[in-house]
Amino acid sequence: MQYPVNEIFETIQGEGHFTGVPAVFLRLQGCPVGCAWCDTRHTWEVLAEDQVEPGLVIGAGDGEPRWAQWPLEQLVAHLTGPQYRARHLVITGGEPCMYDLRPLTERMIAAGWRCQIETSGCFEVKTDPQTWVTVSPKVGMKGGLEVQRSALERANEIKHPVAMQKHVDELDALLAGVALEGKEVALQPISQQHRANELCVRVCIERNWRLSVQTHKYLNID
Ligand code: SF4
Repeated sequence: MQYPVNEIFETIQGEGHFTGVPAVFLRLQGCPVGCAWCDTRHTWEVLAEDQVEPGLVIGAGDGEPRWAQWPLEQLVAHLTGPQYRARHLVITGGEPCMYDLRPLTERMIAAGWRCQIETSGCFEVKTDPQTWVTVSPKVGMKGGLEVQRSALERANEIKHPVAMQKHVDELDALLAGVALEGKEVALQPISQQHRANELCVRVCIERNWRLSVQTHKYLNID
């Protein structure tokens, strides 16, 4: 088992349920979803000419499309090594659910870590059952993929980016018939726009949903 890795870095989880928790982020390369506002476009393609040695993606953080193939054993050994204090692994992308994440999450959880996946919901989620799954459903994007019902059902947290009312309506349509007991639903204003903030606050209060704020953007950290 191998994973294409764009970068590995340690920081603070900036949004959603685990806001403020120190975490190691594992950003996988590859995403066919095509969101217009994507801020990690460098992860979309997995091109042979961009492949580098594994060590070169540690702490990369430079927004380059370079990626490295990490064998499972090597990746687990690195993540559980002495250089990281955090015990919370965030597997993000790109779209991490393009890949089978069971071997990695099983190993990390067995090593005493908590795992979280951040996904668009456009792929089936393959992960250890104890993994916290955050679905930010991406509807009507250029890639033409549909949000998978199975991903919404697996989600522990459904965190929806919102700029205008139509995004709330999209979420309502997606969640129709999905059992929400035990799940957190959160609205996240896109780009900290004033109108989006106001809309999200109002709807969260009306529905008793959570507000997710991208605190890392205010702090200006990755
Ligand atoms: S799913 Fe994520 S990585 Fe993929 S295009 Fe959308 S925002 Fe970007």
